[in-house]
Amino acid sequence: MSKRDYYEVLGLERDASESAIKGAYRKKALKYHPDRNPGDEAAEEQFKEASEAYEVLSDPEKKAAYDRYGHAGIEGNFGRGGFQWSDFTHAGDFQDIFGDIFESFFGGGRRSRGSAKPKGRDLKIKVALTLEEIATGVEKNIALTRLQRCKSCDGTGAASGADRKVCGTCGGQGQVQQMARTLFGPSMTVVTCPTCEGEGYIVSNPCPECRGEGRERGQATLTVRIPAGVQEGNYIPLRGQGEVGPRGGPAGDCLVFIEEKEHDYFIRDGNHVIYRLPLGFAQAALGAEVEVPTLSGKALLKIPAGTQSGRVFRMGGRGIPDVNGRGVGDQLVEVVLWTPEGLSRRERELFTELAELENERVAQEGESFFAKVCKAFGS
Ligand SMILES: [Zn+2]
Ligand SMILES: [Zn+2]
Repeated sequence: MSKRDYYEVLGLERDASESAIKGAYRKKALKYHPDRNPGDEAAEEQFKEASEAYEVLSDPEKKAAYDRYGHAGIEGNFGRGGFQWSDFTHAGDFQDIFGDIFESFFGGGRRSRGSAKPKGRDLKIKVALTLEEIATGVEKNIALTRLQRCKSCDGTGAASGADRKVCGTCGGQGQVQQMARTLFGPSMTVVTCPTCEGEGYIVSNPCPECRGEGRERGQATLTVRIPAGVQEGNYIPLRGQGEVGPRGGPAGDCLVFIEEKEHDYFIRDGNHVIYRLPLGFAQAALGAEVEVPTLSGKALLKIPAGTQSGRVFRMGGRGIPDVNGRGVGDQLVEVVLWTPEGLSRRERELFTELAELENERVAQEGESFFAKVCKAFGS
C-alpha cells in the first residue's frame, strides 16, 4: 500500500505554517480519536496516520527532509514496521485534550504517579555579596516570608482529627487502577484518584485558621553557607526550605541566587581581580615601594625604576579561590600614570627644567619606546 502524502493526510497546503499544522492535527485527532469512534478500526487507522504526519511535519528537520525527498527522506526515522506510537513525541502536548489516552497507547500504566500530594513552590531569593565575602566564603542569615505548615491543624487542613478520613475510593493510595481502551486492546492504567485528587484523604470540616489549605504565611530565617569563589548568577539550593504543599504536601526548595556588589576599586576577571594603581611620574621613573589594597588587606608592591604606564604587575594568589577548589586567582595591578594638575610655581620650574632634559632623550630614545612599552605590556 503506498503511503499518502502527509500534507494531504492533514488537509494542508505545502506552505502551511507551524500553527496551521498543529491546528490541523488537533482537528483530525479529535475527529478520529478512538474514544469518539469505539470499535471503528478505520478511524483508529486515520488517527494513527494523522499522528505520523504530524510527527514528521512538526519537526523542522524531518519536515525539510520530507519536503525534499518525500517519504524516502524520512524512512530512517521509524523502525522496520514504519511509524509506531512509540515514535510519537507529542503525547504530552495534547494531554489537555486527550487526557491519558496517549499514555495508554504506550502500553498503559507506564508512568507511575505515586501518591501525588502537590509539592509546594520553590522560592528564589537573592543575596548580594562583596568581593571580600566572595574571596573568603561567608555564612548569611536570610529572613523571608513563605507558606509554612499551619500550626492549628499541623498541615492536615482539617478542623480536628475526626474531620479527616481516609479516602474510600482509593483507600488512601491517592491513585486507582482503570481499564483503558488502547489500539492494542484493553489495558490497565493507574490514574490519580478522582475522589481525593491524589491526596488519599477527604476533609469534611476544614481548619478555620487556614481554610483547609493546611498552610499559612509565616516568617522564617534561613542560614546559607556560601563557599568561596561563587559568581553572580550561581545559586545555592536549600532543599525543602521553599513553600510547603497544601495539606501536608512536600515543601519546595529555596534557591539562593548570588549577586555581586560592585567594588569601589577592584574589578573581577574570573578568579583574578584587577586593580588600577595611580603612580606619579617620579615614582615611575625612580621606582618605589607602594602600598596597594588587596582582598585580604593592604600589601606592599615594589615598583622598579623606569616603569611605564600600563605595565601590569601580578600578585600571585591574591585573587579569588576557585569555587571548585582548583587554586586561587591573582591580583593584577595595572599602573596608570597620574598627571598632576594645578602646578605650584616650584613644580612648574622643576617640570620645565625636566622637560628641557627630556626633549633630547625623547628624540634619541623615542624610536625604541614603543618596543619597550610592548614588552612591558607583555610581562
Ligand atoms: Zn490549618
Ligand atoms: Zn482517593
